[in-house]
This record gives sequence, structure tokens and C-alpha cells, in this order.
Amino acid sequence: MEERMGHGKLIVFTGPSGVGKGTLLRVLLRSHPDLYFSVSATTRAPRPGEVDGKHYYFVERSAFERMAAEGELLEWAEFAGNYYGTPRQPVLEQIRQGRSVILEIELEGARQVRQTFPEAIQVFILPPSVDELETRIRGRGQDSESAIVRRLARAQEEIEAADEFDIQIVNDDFDQALAELEAALFNSNCREPDLAAT
Ligand code: 5GP
Repeated sequence: MEERMGHGKLIVFTGPSGVGKGTLLRVLLRSHPDLYFSVSATTRAPRPGEVDGKHYYFVERSAFERMAAEGELLEWAEFAGNYYGTPRQPVLEQIRQGRSVILEIELEGARQVRQTFPEAIQVFILPPSVDELETRIRGRGQDSESAIVRRLARAQEEIEAADEFDIQIVNDDFDQALAELEAALFNSNCREPDLAAT
């Protein structure tokens, strides 16, 4: 297997807010502790239960802007009024050490990574339907009405871009979605990322 001999793989995980990416990833990471989850920086306020340094690095706008200006982010984007970005150094370090890294990021960030790392495995998670997505976003009760409206509008745009991604998985039946994800990640013969490209 190539990843045992050299670098790890870069895996990009995208899909509309509320599609269940987080739950899929949590279960995937539990059964594959060799995978490294990249913790993003964000200017969004923590939700109840979210831990700084585990779910996100929660930073002020000025700190985020400095990180972006100084090239510390592998990619970044604005989403529903907040900034989100991937700290570059830990990702490159893990890949160099042979670990595969997962980025859970939105569409604009995924497009940036596609430019820098065309070898990355790109996965898009789709909801069974847009109505179902709205039910899930409202059901989790974590966002204000204006945030929900922005997230739903953005979800529609993201879903329209799903076919830009190598792998598309519909998260209808959870176990089936997880099995498809594992098959896509572990049976794929993709190339290692070219770290010199960054
Ligand atoms: P949430 O506020 O629901 O945690 O995340 C909102 C969106 O931001 C999700 O689609 C999530 O995947 C995306 N996101 C999280 N971290 C990053 C990041 O580092 N970069 C980018 N581009 N998007 C991110």
C-alpha cells in the first residue's frame, strides 16, 4: 500500500450544512483512529458542547485575518457570515508522517484544495432531499432563523456543485452511507498529494 511507504492521503469531505457529515465523520474516525481530523479555525461562536481545539479553534476576526494574510491557512472561506479555514502546518506534517488527513470543509474551500492538491480524494455528502435537509437543520435547534435561512440557501448552491466531486454519497440510510464512504476511502487507488505544490 502506498500510504505505508510514503505520505498519507488528503481527503476532502464536503456537503451542505445539516447533511450529517459530522456524525458520519465521528463514526468513521472512531473505527479508523489512524485517520487525522484537521481542526479548523473559525470566527463562529461555539455551539453548546463544542470544545476549543477539538471541534474548532474559535478565534476573533482579527486573528483569523492575520492567519490568512500570513499564509497559515491551506484554504479558507466565508460561510453564513463567518470565516472558516484549515491551519496549513498540522495537515502537511501529518501527511509527511504517513497519516491520512480529513478536511471537513465547505464548497469554496474544497475548490481551493482541488487547485493545490488535485490528488486529494474529494467526497460530497448529499441529503436524500432538500426538504429533509431543512427538517434536520431545524431539528438540531442550534441556529437562529436568519442563520437557518442562509444555510439553506447555501445548501442549494452546494448541492448543485456535487458533481464536481469524485465521490458522491447520499446520507439517507446512515449505515449504508458509512459503508460507501469506507469503500471509497480505503479501496481508492488515488495518488499521494504533492507537498511541494504548497
Ligand atoms: P458549521 O458552522 O456548521 O460548523 O460549519 C459551517 C460550514 O463550514 C460547514 O459546511 C463546514 O464543513 C465548513 N467548514 C468547517 N471548517 C472549515 C474550514 O476550515 N474551511 C472551510 N472552507 N469550510 C469549513
